[in-house]
Amino acid sequence: MTKKILILPGDGIGPEIMAEAVKILEVLRAEGEALEWSFAKLGGAAYDAEGHPYPPSTQKAAREADAILLGAVGGPKYDELPRELRPERGLLGIRKDLNLFANLRPALAFDELADASSLKREVIEGLDILILRELTGDIYFGQPRGRRSNAEGHAEGYDTMHYSEPEVERIARVAFEAARKRSKRVCSVDKENVLETSRLWREVVIKVAQDYPDVELTHQYVDNAAMQLVRRPKQFDVIVTGNIFGDILSDEASMLCGSIGLLPSASLDVNNKGMYEPIHGSAPDIMGQNKANPIATILSVAMMFKYTFNRGDIAGRIDAAVKRVLKDGKRTGDIASAGETVIGTREMGDAIAASLRRPV
Ligand code: NAD
Repeated sequence: MTKKILILPGDGIGPEIMAEAVKILEVLRAEGEALEWSFAKLGGAAYDAEGHPYPPSTQKAAREADAILLGAVGGPKYDELPRELRPERGLLGIRKDLNLFANLRPALAFDELADASSLKREVIEGLDILILRELTGDIYFGQPRGRRSNAEGHAEGYDTMHYSEPEVERIARVAFEAARKRSKRVCSVDKENVLETSRLWREVVIKVAQDYPDVELTHQYVDNAAMQLVRRPKQFDVIVTGNIFGDILSDEASMLCGSIGLLPSASLDVNNKGMYEPIHGSAPDIMGQNKANPIATILSVAMMFKYTFNRGDIAGRIDAAVKRVLKDGKRTGDIASAGETVIGTREMGDAIAASLRRPV
């Protein structure tokens, strides 16, 4: 059956990095893989074209697709829009609409780039951790939220941190299942000493762990986890945590690997239908300059083959093509050390596509 992929380039560098991901799809289709892809708009681009960051046309296409590839959304041009029309609402909207509750963010250190990390080589060499962030709950979605005037007449803002038992249970199960395919260790991150939501989170994770006696479960408070990630990151295998803690910890973990431009992510529903995207944003500061690193997006294509299409073989080939190109010394500006030659977005995409192509 033909695999139907919806491509949402988004804003800023989104269209540039997505053009490189398409080169990878073209190589695979030329080999005979049954793939078809179409494009739709999300974020600022969708607001410009259709007046909404997640318009009905995109919603329909997203529901019909087998998997979605997203570039990034957002930019200063949209900062003054009402909150409901901001590009980020498009992103939150599609995640919620498709019930993409499990966000998988691998943090892998490429040995070739160990010197691009802000940490010492020995701390990160061989690093391979998976951060699992719950994506559709927590303080980003909890009600009530808003602005009001307090008793003294001062303006105040408020949000609600919230998790229900089934929400925690399903993300915990994804974590334990993922750990079974790795080093069989899960660290659940919370703030149980302070937050009621975290107290429930921990109780549920411990309960789910009883079904996975072969997996070791530990707990860390989020402040400690943030510290441990830079102190001794290789102690972790799978980290599972809520939406806001995961948002912050996964960005921190990205720096272990050298650049935010290297890390892919997957957001999955219960059937492994997924949306795949780099973890970085739309980088308006480098947009249109052929400077963006397309590797995170290309590795997102690899994750799509692994998790939604069950084609670990293709995912492995894409990962290997990226590694070969890095080994050959190809560097975009964000991962280049002093004195190294810098290539552009398009040249990096061409090099990876060429490395992936099988000799005919
Ligand atoms: P950002 O990730 O866009 O950029 C942070 C820094 O990293 C910038 O200096 C940028 O040039 C650099 N960078 C990012 N991606 C890169 C790449 N592929 N190659 C080389 N360098 C790269 O984060 P930001 O500046 O905080 O946000 C910019 C916009 O992106 C905002 O509108 C924000 O809301 C949005 N955003 C979107 C997403 C998303 O779509 N998932 C995520 C984060 C931020």
